[in-house]
Amino acid sequence: LEKKFLRAQRMETVGTLAGGVAHDLNNMLTPIMMSVTLLKEDEDDESRLRDLSNIEMSAARGAAMVRQLLTFARGADGGHMPVDIGLVAKDVQKIARDTFPKNIDFRFEGPENLWKVQADPTQLHQVLVNLCINARDAMPGGGVLSLSLTHVVLDEVYSDMNPEAAPGPYVHIVVEDTGTGMPPEVLDRMFEPFFTTKEVGQGTGLGLSTVHSIILQHGGFIHVYSEEGKGTKFKVYLPAIASSADSEEVALAQTQLPRGR
Ligand code: ADP
Repeated sequence: LEKKFLRAQRMETVGTLAGGVAHDLNNMLTPIMMSVTLLKEDEDDESRLRDLSNIEMSAARGAAMVRQLLTFARGADGGHMPVDIGLVAKDVQKIARDTFPKNIDFRFEGPENLWKVQADPTQLHQVLVNLCINARDAMPGGGVLSLSLTHVVLDEVYSDMNPEAAPGPYVHIVVEDTGTGMPPEVLDRMFEPFFTTKEVGQGTGLGLSTVHSIILQHGGFIHVYSEEGKGTKFKVYLPAIASSADSEEVALAQTQLPRGR
């Protein structure tokens, strides 16, 4: 537990640092992008236009990375509202079906009346997209990517074993792939900002640290199971708002489950 706490504290420091860097970078990228746009308007020479477009593209990539950094550092001060993750997931499913290689078999499973979560929908979208992109990248030869949603009530026994989990209703998101899996040294470091095993230009190393910080800011937690050569499973739990119609189900589940030791 102490080790976990230390890691959380270190991530917080890196987050503050990253926020500062992102802010400064943003201040530099904005005039670059504006100037390039102006220069392009007055330029007729084709090779110069190509150079300018390259500068523009790199600056835009930098700006996208800064945006991710800011989300990671700033935390969830965006508007929180009751969100149906099923709808968010359907949108992610569409993106994946439209843009992922055809050798990736994308499977989606989610009930219609999932409990809602109090959340920033844009950030939840980012969580699902980041997890799906990693799953895609882990299956260069193709495979199965499944995204499934359910809701569960965590009881006190479960909470005793998982100190980060308060008992209560949760939405449970599972993103599973049949890809490369992760060796222990990668599993150990995957949530660290800027940790990546991907080639330069392929990965920023910010995907999972962003996921981790968004989940924590929403009061949730995340478990990872991975086996080299077999695949990886990310299980995300987000506290849910069970409506009054559901509360009987919650109360029942809580009384039926054995109480803590
Ligand atoms: P990036 O994707 O930019 O490298 P992330 O923070 O999203 O950054 O991931 C960090 C590292 O964790 C990846 O470089 C990869 O080695 C590993 N990883 C993440 N998700 C998976 C996965 N589903 N399967 C195998 N390895 C993964």
